[in-house]
Amino acid sequence: MNLPRQAQIVIIGGGVMGASTAYHLALKGCQDVLLLERESFFGQGATGKCAGGIRYQFSTEINVRLSQISLPMLQRFEDEVGQPIDLRWPGYLFLLTNERDVARFRHNVAMQRRLGVDTEWLDRDAVRQLAPQLDTSDVIAGTFHAGDGLADPNGVVAGYIAAARRLGVTALVDTDVTGISLLGDRLSQVHTSQGSVSCQVVVNAAGPYSAVVSDFAGVPLPVTPVRRQMLTTTPMAEIPADFPFVIDFAQSLYFHREGEGLLTGMSNPEQEPGFDERVDEAWELVHMEAAIKRLPALARAGRLSGWAGLYEVTPDAHPIIGPVPGVEGYYVVTGFSGHGFMHGPVAGLLMAEMILDGQTSTLDISSLDYGRFAEGRYIREYNVI
Ligand SMILES: Cc1cc2nc3c(=O)[nH]c(=O)nc-3n(C[C@H](O)[C@H](O)[C@H](O)COP(=O)(O)OP(=O)(O)OC[C@H]3O[C@@H](n4cnc5c(N)ncnc54)[C@H](O)[C@@H]3O)c2cc1C
Repeated sequence: MNLPRQAQIVIIGGGVMGASTAYHLALKGCQDVLLLERESFFGQGATGKCAGGIRYQFSTEINVRLSQISLPMLQRFEDEVGQPIDLRWPGYLFLLTNERDVARFRHNVAMQRRLGVDTEWLDRDAVRQLAPQLDTSDVIAGTFHAGDGLADPNGVVAGYIAAARRLGVTALVDTDVTGISLLGDRLSQVHTSQGSVSCQVVVNAAGPYSAVVSDFAGVPLPVTPVRRQMLTTTPMAEIPADFPFVIDFAQSLYFHREGEGLLTGMSNPEQEPGFDERVDEAWELVHMEAAIKRLPALARAGRLSGWAGLYEVTPDAHPIIGPVPGVEGYYVVTGFSGHGFMHGPVAGLLMAEMILDGQTSTLDISSLDYGRFAEGRYIREYNVI
């Protein structure tokens, strides 16, 4: 399909944020929407590289509240959008191995329970019973929420794109956005590898590349790309179908069942920001040594596949959702800092409300505005993996 000469709203980026925003705009009756993705397929960026985890266990109220809307949207997804997304609910089990994390998580669990999330506090024996495959000798305590789980990121993107198209949205691949023109302080055109489009509204949903895209509009965006990698294993008979999504919090090490094997990752705290998506083999060795220590059966498994992707990280590990002051018609939905897949559904809904109604009615997200960094209103998330 050719690039239209004009559109009311142009969305840059066809990952979960762009796809969800396009769908929710159309659902609210706005069809003059053009979604542009530079790759040949949608959802090949951070969304396609992600671990698929969905959880309520966060350390800030705003993140728990985003999950309280977004996860039920994923539960309804197949009925509403018409695409299966392989939902599973094995629960998330956090392992705590130092007193600082124990104190912090006690506080977090109390906050989660106050908001209606029934996270359980586990002593070491209870952790061992839940996941006897783990070496728990250094574990002090754990937290478990049975309503946390997993979903298929590609299914979510494909479902939203197909449903948005059915509702009248134009969604194009192979279209690289290369510039944005302003007329005074208003948006006027988006320039691409396929030509230029006049528009009134631009939504920057370019994930780890959102700061690059924002520079086109002359707006600095504090979003940094940071490499994260993981691998999958050959089948492991020791891992039952209901094995939880385990997070060894202090090491940022995680495992969940993938097919008949495991998916495991570990975040490198020393990782320099950048766009390099090659697998760091030296870090993979560090990761596997820690992973085998925690889950000894891994020593007998083979490596099936491995890949790296980019987190889109903000200074306070919370997203930026909303308009950017100074450029009329310019909105951003980015910076989810490692947990954007699960919040993609609600983020797209909130964007659609903001653009079409001028404010959100589903949830007050004024704390996630662009202005907070300049004004020092940081909201720190502790449960970053
Ligand atoms: C290894 C890893 C594991 C993760 N695990 C989880 C998890 O378990 N749970 C969870 O909730 N989140 C997880 N995340 C985070 C999650 O993947 C992201 O927060 C989320 O996918 C971001 O979605 P997005 O749409 O903003 O970005 P993306 O999916 O990257 O989409 C942005 C799109 O914009 C396109 N684009 C960029 N520049 C241009 C341009 N100039 N013109 C046109 N198109 C452009 C890109 O090609 C891309 O398709 C993980 C991330 C990684 C890397």
